[in-house]
Amino acid sequence: MDIISRSEWGARPPEGRVTVPWSARSVFMGHYSGASATQTPRAIQDYHMRERGWVDIGYNFLISSTSGVIFEGRGWTNLGAHCAGHNTEAIGVCIIGADKPNVQDVSDAARRSFKWLYDEANRRKGSKLTLLGHKDRGKTACPGDEIYSWLKAGLPIIGQPTPAPKPPAGSKPAPGTPIAFPLPGGWYFGPASGPDYSVSGRYERYFRGRTDRAWLKDWATQLGRRGWNIGKGRRWLSEHGNDGVYGAEYRAMALAFQRDQRLRQDGLIGVATWNAAYLNPVT
Ligand SMILES: [Zn+2]
Repeated sequence: MDIISRSEWGARPPEGRVTVPWSARSVFMGHYSGASATQTPRAIQDYHMRERGWVDIGYNFLISSTSGVIFEGRGWTNLGAHCAGHNTEAIGVCIIGADKPNVQDVSDAARRSFKWLYDEANRRKGSKLTLLGHKDRGKTACPGDEIYSWLKAGLPIIGQPTPAPKPPAGSKPAPGTPIAFPLPGGWYFGPASGPDYSVSGRYERYFRGRTDRAWLKDWATQLGRRGWNIGKGRRWLSEHGNDGVYGAEYRAMALAFQRDQRLRQDGLIGVATWNAAYLNPVT
């Protein structure tokens, strides 16, 4: 499994570091952020450093509760700041999201990622770490009922990894050369009115050496290669054309593409929607 590195998610450098040897580790501790599932590691780091005054993001790792993407926090061998008095023995892993009643907040993908990290920690340690929730060692509701009961049950994985669906008969492989998603983990192309990680093309911000506008144009051009009728006066991007500035027209096209690809329909172009254009067969 891949871990999104600090440089990939745009971490600020730590203001200090203390190394913990594996011999001192004995606990693998689950946390939740208790806030929006769309919060970025960078936003959490900013909060921990600016508001809490810590030297870095508190957790050793973080996992998106929706996509299951794993983000490097302080990593395996640096002292964290996630459970007062227990940071030396405990590796702290935060699942980003809240615990809403009566719904499954943590996706199967996120559960598999958490379990994978736990197995990986045991492998590196050479023996089994004790699995705990934050509230086992602190006065807190963290990591919420859903995660806590799952931890206590020993991390059972019910859903099997979804095998890639068989392309329907008559489908063709995606045309063109795939382009890697150019934004940091958790970011997306979306409205200029959104948070910092909603990248619109309006302000010509640079990512991997090119502007957001150029990247968004690339993605729409790829839809064109897939047979989408785009451009001024055409079916999609009819009024402004492929100008690389996210607005109602890109949103409508992204929504239609997500519906077509059976992706989550939010009209935002994140990593899944981006990749589907380059990797999924054309049906
Ligand atoms: Zn916690």
